[in-house]
Amino acid sequence: MDVILLSYTPNPDALIAASARICYRDITASDLLKSEEEALSRKLIAELFASGHMSAFEHVSFTFGIDGLSRVASHQLVRHRVASFNQQSQRYVSMTPDPDAVIIPPAIKANPDALRLYSEAVRHSQETYRELCAIGIPKEDARFILPHGHSTRLVMTMNARELHHFFGLRLCRRAQWEIRELARKMLVLCREKAPVIFDKAGPGCIFGKCGEARTCGNPYKNMEELLFA
Ligand SMILES: Cc1cc2nc3c(=O)[nH]c(=O)nc-3n(C[C@H](O)[C@H](O)[C@H](O)COP(=O)(O)OP(=O)(O)OC[C@H]3O[C@@H](n4cnc5c(N)ncnc54)[C@H](O)[C@@H]3O)c2cc1C
Repeated sequence: MDVILLSYTPNPDALIAASARICYRDITASDLLKSEEEALSRKLIAELFASGHMSAFEHVSFTFGIDGLSRVASHQLVRHRVASFNQQSQRYVSMTPDPDAVIIPPAIKANPDALRLYSEAVRHSQETYRELCAIGIPKEDARFILPHGHSTRLVMTMNARELHHFFGLRLCRRAQWEIRELARKMLVLCREKAPVIFDKAGPGCIFGKCGEARTCGNPYKNMEELLFA
């Protein structure tokens, strides 16, 4: 899976802090932004985060290009309604038969018998797709035979408030492995551009309190384990 940051709001840490500060200061937003310093932003953003005053986080957005995610995971991803999506269409784009176009879950990759069964079923479904298209069935109908694990491409935009929500849910060990890997890659990219905003991002366990009713029993020890394990 490839995840790149296509675009993001410039100066994100300072913009959030300045946006929140306009509530308390009688100066223009432009002057507030100019006067914002890293130490000031860090303190205010930590206070906003701790008190749950998250509206200022909505002024900053990140747009990702996502390639090689399965449709299994993209189906989960698009459940996040406070995000914007464009996804490659299987109605308009031909799904050329290619074994690499289908994601192989690690548990299947690690088991030779499972891998043989899986690869054979993928080959058969892709071949049937090709034959259906060849006898004139529209792509939008032929695609019904393609595996759920077929890879897809998306452009997705989330604001920083939604990103925090997303990281809390999808970096949890109870989340499915592929969307968790996507979330991990996104958080690495976000922290490079906005280290203050995403200083405290991730599931509850990393801050000492699991939010799940049924805990996984294996809390993250620290941010390094979450980001680089
Ligand atoms: C580990 C895990 C397992 C899951 N298993 C299942 C499953 O088995 N079946 C299933 O169907 N789903 C499942 N989901 C998906 C889950 O139920 C949510 O649909 C998904 O995580 C999106 O979360 P959300 O609705 O909070 O977030 P978003 O859609 O990103 O919304 C963010 C927040 O905005 C607010 N909001 C958004 N829309 C509305 C609205 N219409 N009304 C009021 N407030 C709104 C809410 O506060 C919401 O939390 C699972 C998710 C996870 C993380």
